[in-house]
Amino acid sequence: MVFYSPGRTTTYPDTPPTNGLRYHYLGGGNEVGNVGCVFEDNKGEKMLLDYGLAPTDPPKYPNESPPVKNAVITHSHIDHLGMAPWLCANHRTTLHGTQLTAEISRMMWNDCYKVSRIEGYPLAWDKRDIDVAVSSWKTHKFGETWTNESWKCKLTKAGHIPGAAMLNVETDTHKLLFTGDFDTRDSPLTSGAKPEKCDILFVEGTYGGRDHPNKQETIEKFVNKIVEISDRGGTALIPAFANGRTQDIVMMLHKYLPEMDVHVDGMGKHVARLQLENPDALRNPEELTEAWKWCRRVSSKSDKKKALDADCIVSTSGMMDGGPSIWYLNRLRTDPRNGILLTGYQAKGSGGRMLLDEGHVPIWDKRTPIDLEVNQFSFSTHAGHSEIVKFAQDCEAETVVVYHTDPNHARPPLVEELESNGHTVHTPLNGESTIID
Ligand SMILES: [Zn+2]
Ligand SMILES: [Zn+2]
Repeated sequence: MVFYSPGRTTTYPDTPPTNGLRYHYLGGGNEVGNVGCVFEDNKGEKMLLDYGLAPTDPPKYPNESPPVKNAVITHSHIDHLGMAPWLCANHRTTLHGTQLTAEISRMMWNDCYKVSRIEGYPLAWDKRDIDVAVSSWKTHKFGETWTNESWKCKLTKAGHIPGAAMLNVETDTHKLLFTGDFDTRDSPLTSGAKPEKCDILFVEGTYGGRDHPNKQETIEKFVNKIVEISDRGGTALIPAFANGRTQDIVMMLHKYLPEMDVHVDGMGKHVARLQLENPDALRNPEELTEAWKWCRRVSSKSDKKKALDADCIVSTSGMMDGGPSIWYLNRLRTDPRNGILLTGYQAKGSGGRMLLDEGHVPIWDKRTPIDLEVNQFSFSTHAGHSEIVKFAQDCEAETVVVYHTDPNHARPPLVEELESNGHTVHTPLNGESTIID
């Protein structure tokens, strides 16, 4: 067991609220990722929602959680579950989530541990704590009701990635809905989230103030670019996140470019296997099964070399921070017929961000200029501004708490529109408590 990261203190109040319900963001209140939110009623009953970290450079950690018997983990992205091993090892907390989230969690924690070692970042937990966390899961089916002490809880589908859930909670006084990361639009892998009637909606605001480009047009541009690269004799390198994006991209390629030779490498292969074992979490399990049989999964050194002649290589890391995508880039970078198609957000300090802004990528710590064509496509599975606004209306939420958002750019336009629609809007700050009567 490791002590909490230096400098992080408990900001959580010692005593329960005298009335109503308190919520308190340990992290993720006024930032994207790094989520942890404690709820407590006047009887001292507590629950934690998500406990992640922000995998930025250097990583950010939420404030220390008070002891809690139960935590609900909405989905298996590291910004929502990265600190769960610390929680379970220190407080013997039970983790609640879907079966698929639980199954993917070990892989995410192992990867996080590995990266922290390579990069030399402090982590508040170690390998033994992963084992404790893995054995702390209590899984629930979508729609099944259970009680944490006296609170009635239920998970419903959040879209976003397979297994992602929204948490519905009924206390003596309130009906809450906590979206986690969500999207009301369908993706190849998942069906969009459906609104649930609630008094208080806690909604992620990643895309406040921004609407997504038309999905079909984006797919067409993406497909056309791959055809163009293939026609000139090149290979399209498609870096993609392991958990969700890799499989979404493979399903798109299978649907629109079935004649192409597509090779898949990286952690996304393991995630796909777990997704296929949990068909309940998928929009169309047969489509993923077919697409997965169709693509070539890279499993050996010689497979890797063969992939260099493919039309497309889909591989982690999605932000070009190490992983097989860097190995492929190093081999493909000298032939200008090849191209790079980024399929997601590229964080500040990532290889992909440097490629876009400065035209170079660190390859094994060496700044390497890349003279290949680079394109970026938005395949985000977070709800855009209009989807968030409509969702809040459809939930008939009196109060909307906007979190998991950039407080300077994304949140203000979202708050303005939600207020003009008659909602009372809260803008939480990390480390501060709010009581809802
Ligand atoms: Zn998130
Ligand atoms: Zn997520």
